[in-house]
Formats: sequence, C-alpha cells, structure tokens
Amino acid sequence: MESRHERLWMRLKEGNLLRRLVEEHFDGVLLIECATGEIWELGDTFSAKLRVENRSMDGVLYDRQLRETMAHYVEAADREMLVQRLCLETVKKMLERQDAYTVDVDTWRAEDKAFCKRFMFHYLDDSRTVIAMTCEDVTANLLGETDPLTGMMNSVGFHRRVQAWIDKHPGQRFRIQRYDVDRFRNVNGLYGRDVGDRLLRDLARHMKRFDQGENCFSAHLHADHFARFCAEGTMTVQECYDNFNSCFADYDLSIAITLHIGVYDLCETDCDASTMSYKALLALQSIKGSQTKCIAYYEKGMMDEEREQGELLRDLESAVANGEFEVWFQPQVDYASRELVGAEALVRWRHPVRGLLMPGAFVPLLERSDNVYQMDRYVIRKTCAYIRRWQDDMPGRHITVSVNLSREDLDRPDLCSRLDALLTENGIPRETLHLEVTESAYVEDTRRVIEAVRDFRSRGFIVEMDDFGSGYSSLNALKDIDIDKLKLDMRFLAGDDTAKGRIILRCIIGMARELALPIIAEGVETKEQADMLLDYGCREMQGYYFSRPVPAEVYERLLRGEERIAALCE
Ligand code: C2E
Ligand code: MG
Ligand code: MG
Repeated sequence: MESRHERLWMRLKEGNLLRRLVEEHFDGVLLIECATGEIWELGDTFSAKLRVENRSMDGVLYDRQLRETMAHYVEAADREMLVQRLCLETVKKMLERQDAYTVDVDTWRAEDKAFCKRFMFHYLDDSRTVIAMTCEDVTANLLGETDPLTGMMNSVGFHRRVQAWIDKHPGQRFRIQRYDVDRFRNVNGLYGRDVGDRLLRDLARHMKRFDQGENCFSAHLHADHFARFCAEGTMTVQECYDNFNSCFADYDLSIAITLHIGVYDLCETDCDASTMSYKALLALQSIKGSQTKCIAYYEKGMMDEEREQGELLRDLESAVANGEFEVWFQPQVDYASRELVGAEALVRWRHPVRGLLMPGAFVPLLERSDNVYQMDRYVIRKTCAYIRRWQDDMPGRHITVSVNLSREDLDRPDLCSRLDALLTENGIPRETLHLEVTESAYVEDTRRVIEAVRDFRSRGFIVEMDDFGSGYSSLNALKDIDIDKLKLDMRFLAGDDTAKGRIILRCIIGMARELALPIIAEGVETKEQADMLLDYGCREMQGYYFSRPVPAEVYERLLRGEERIAALCE
C-alpha cells in the first residue's frame, strides 16, 4: 500500500524545486510536513550520514530529531541557540518573510573534526504545506573564503558574493570600494606587527558593524587592503569614509593614519566581479600617497593605461641587463660668475620600440613596484664611471654631480655601504657625488629619511633636499633634517610672477642665508627669473634657460670648454 509520504512524493515530483534539490549534490534533503511536523527523508542521504540510531527518520517529528542530532554533533554551549534558530516554529516564521532561510552551523563536530554545515529551508509548494530542508557541507568553502586574521571574508569570498549579487539583481546599480590604510607600512615598522594586526582587526570589526546582509558587506583582501560592496541606496562613499576613518581616532601614534578609497561604480554588464574590484584598485592607486585626495573614482581609460604600464614594467626587467638606461646631465651654473659648477644626473630610457622615455613615464612605475633601487644603482654606477673618466681626462677640473634617490632606496640598509664602496673603487672623493633626497620622501616617512640622511652625512656625502617648496611640509622638513644644500623648485611659483611670489622667494633665499644653507634654484626658465634670483642672493641655478638635460658627450664638451652655455655668454 502507498504510504502517505509516497503519495506526497508523487504529488511533488513534478515540481522544479524538488528536482533541483535532488540533482544538486547536497548532503541530504528532508521534507517537513508543516501541519504535523513530521519528516520524510528524500533518498537515504541523511540516514546514511547523520543517522544517530540505526533507524529510518521517516515519520519522526522534526523538532525531536533536531534535538537528538544536535545533542550528538554540536557542543553543549551552542546547542540551545542552534535549536532555537532551526526549530520548526522559527523556520516557519522566517519563511513568512523571505523565500529561503539559511543557517550556517560551524561548530559541528564529528570524530574531532570541525565542520561547517549550511542548512537551507524553502517551501516546496505554493500552498505551503511542505518545507524542504537541505544540508550542505560548506567547510571547505568557508575555510577558503575567510581571512583568519580578521574573520572577515577574504577576496575569494568577497568576489563570489559580489558576483552572486550581480547575477541576482541584473541592471541594478552598486559600488565596489577598495580601501588602503595610508602609511600602514610605517605602523608595522615603527610599532611592530602586533600593533599593525590590532589596527587591522579593529578596522575590520568597525567595518563589519556597518554590513547590511547581502546588499552591503566588507572583506579583508590582504595586508592593509579592504573591500566593500554597497548596493545603491545603502551607505554613500563619503559616509563609509567618515565612519571607517574615525576608527583610528583613539590610536595614539605619532603618524596620522587615514584611509584612501578607490571606487568603481560603472556597473558594466560585460565585466566580472574581480575585474570591477581591480578597477576600484586602479582608482585607489591613482591617489596613493596623496595628502589632499582620499577618494577617487575609476574612470574609463585607467585600465588601458594600466595595461600599458604593465607592458612597460615587463620591459623594464630586461632594461638594465640590455643597457637601455642612459644618464643625461643638466648643467648647474653660478649665474654671478657665469661658470658651470656642476650637473644633475637624470635618467632616460631608450626603449627599443617606444623611443626615448622621460623618467615621468617609468620612475613612478618602478617606485610602485619596488624596483627603483636596481635602476638607481645602475644610474649611480654609470655616473661614477663618467666622473672617473672626466677626472682622468681633465685633471684639475672641478666636477660635482648630483644623483636622485627615491624614497624606496632609503629603505635599503646596504645603500650607504654600496655607495661608499663604489666611490672608493673609482677613487672619487665623497664630496663629488651629491645625493638628492626629495622633500616628498620626508613627508612619506619622516623618521626613515632623517636616519638615512644622518647616515649619508656621517660618511661624508653631501645631501641636497630636492624640490624644496613643492610639497606640504617644506619648513618642517628643513627644521628636522640636517642637510647640506637646498634645491628650490621654481615651478612652485609657476604662472605666478606677482609681487606675492617674489616676496616668498626672497624670504626663502633670505632664510637659507641665515641658516648658512647653500641654495640652488631649479626650473629656471627665463632671464627675468635668473636676474631676480641673483638679485635676492641666489647665485646657483639650473633650468631650461641655461640648458636642458643633455647626453653625457654633450656635457663633456661643456666641461672641456669646447661648447658654451649661451645664456652665460650674454
Ligand atoms: P628632479 O630631480 O626635480 O629633476 C628636475 C626635473 O626638472 C628634470 O626632469 C628636468 O628635466 C626638469 N627641468 C629642468 N629644468 C627645467 C625647467 O626649466 N623647466 C621645467 N619645466 N622643467 C625643468 P626629468 O629629467 O623629466 O626628471 C623628472 C624627475 O624624475 C626628477 O625630478 C627626479 O625626481 C626623477 N628622476 C630623474 N632621474 C632619476 C633617477 O635616476 N633616479 C630617480 N630615483 N629619480 C629620477
Ligand atoms: Mg632631482
Ligand atoms: Mg627637483
């Protein structure tokens, strides 16, 4: 005789949901009859895997079986809470509000192994007489999708959930945000990893508080990078920024910690979640280190630019080996005595396909990818070889050359001793090779720059502060670091030849004089500027008015006196 359940089974068999449930590889499917609370097992999956006693579960009351199973598999502390969440009354209540009800049980223990099971409930039929409960083992999923440090989703979990949302809400708008903790590297460096980890965990906890289910959630991707998905209508970018930034208010650290946010909000239909997230990252990178801009939006074209930069970066790997970098020299003059007094070494890249590239096209790229040190070492080695040759060819000729150091170079503990060895090897006096450290490096990592400059000077190198006046804390930098010379960047006055600009210029030159700091003005483009600078007491200058950077052979002719700088002959 047909059992009641078999009749029910026949009736439900045509339903799509049931077919799908059976076809998908769940640990098991249980049917719960709403009126009686009795269960009926679909196939023998449950009794095979979960059966507590050696008997079929058919016809048993769901709530009774639930308690029995929980008692067997779940630790006492979690048991009652789970029974509450999974009992028939709760399930029914939840299904009144939503189509499906899901509970993850991650304290499931069997043979001392931790499991995570996902229980999901649906009504099987429109008349709501039967509930289907599926159980799925998601241990591997969750272990692979959770970041152990913060307990947040990792990038795999984040991108999967974003993709699921997009698939479920076609055409709806959303935003993906990528977060970077500004100067986090310094927190780790100065205060230790423990403080760094605590900061990341605090930020994670803070962000999670603002999560709103599937429409708004955050993740910890790696290091100090976080991500957040917001469906339209949830928090605005500015709200996110204000809320999450405030998390650092209680941190008593000497460096100010802030967030930078890159936002992707174009919602392109042909783009997958991880590409969109990458686009948000490109927006973020466009403001890395910026003091004035904390939020940037992805713009079309950033991706092409990135692709091009990726190609350049790949080419850079072989550029040193292939000798593609050239060192050019920009003359520095004493405008009062009309003499050539030195030069700045500036790198150029003779790219086999793209031709001669200026540093702006590749130095920032190298800096971002931590590869600038290799190039700078090459430039310095080459510069030393030129100096050696000129000293040999023109004995008695006074030669000085300044080379540029990137902030990243200062992190290399061996830089100082390598430079020392290089100069000794080439028989070049310390004061011949000047080192330029840019003012913006000081802003980025004050302590490191102070230490590095002290090291260089203690070994007899002459250190110049490059681009003085172009950054935000020129005066602080000047107060804190003992340097040998200021390079005043004339471009900070660009387009502004008013009385105000002149007053500032005069005061800076006067200040340098009072501090007994030699000063050189760079970016001098006109005779008027040169005359004005001289008038205020700045004699040394560098700029297009005198000469653009030139290849080594041309500079050599200037050194020999075979060629002259036109502006000095007037
Ligand atoms: P910087 O050290 O401030 O170098 C001066 C830059 O200003 C040079 O640009 C130079 O060509 C340009 N310049 C000189 N006179 C004038 C002028 O009168 N008007 C204007 N508008 N510009 C002038 P360049 O060669 O393109 O180098 C740009 C930057 O790239 C340099 O700025 C420096 O920060 C960096 N750089 C150059 N070579 C190296 C290198 O070997 N290593 C590192 N780490 N950075 C380098
Ligand atoms: Mg320079
Ligand atoms: Mg400069």
